Amino acid sequence: MSDCIFCGIAAGTMPAERIYEDADTVAFLDIAPACDGHVLVIPRAHSDDIHGAEPANLGAVASTVQQMAARVSGALGSDGVSIVQSNGRAAGQTVFHYHVHVLPRFERDGVMTPWQATRASSEHLARMGALLRGE
Ligand code: AMP
Ligand code: ZN
Repeated sequence: MSDCIFCGIAAGTMPAERIYEDADTVAFLDIAPACDGHVLVIPRAHSDDIHGAEPANLGAVASTVQQMAARVSGALGSDGVSIVQSNGRAAGQTVFHYHVHVLPRFERDGVMTPWQATRASSEHLARMGALLRGE
């Protein structure tokens, strides 16, 4: 994908503040961070989003995400870490090369707004379960 920013970062032809890299993944700082230590992890192999990604690449990213979660916690002394991953414009995706956000979190930092939890009846959950199991 010659016009993909994150492919350019993976190849080293686009600038990035790199934190870690291995044969399959690269981790670098988000250029417009939600907080200090906001890291992005990408597979070197391009896919627009989770749907087109090879499971082996998803696994490699997960392993690097785990390492980066430890890295940001250790370096910044955060109380927690949020892992965020969006697919499709409706989910807020803006860069269409699969990536995972690693966000160090502190108590009451306001970095992410929690979703509004709803109530669901057991009948509704059973219907949704059947739908998702393909019944
Ligand atoms: P998403 O909304 O999940 O698609 O996140 C894309 C993220 O990529 C945003 O947080 C952007 O700030 C970040 N971003 C876009 N271009 C660059 C870049 N050249 N280097 C680092 N981060 C970038
Ligand atoms: Zn790409």
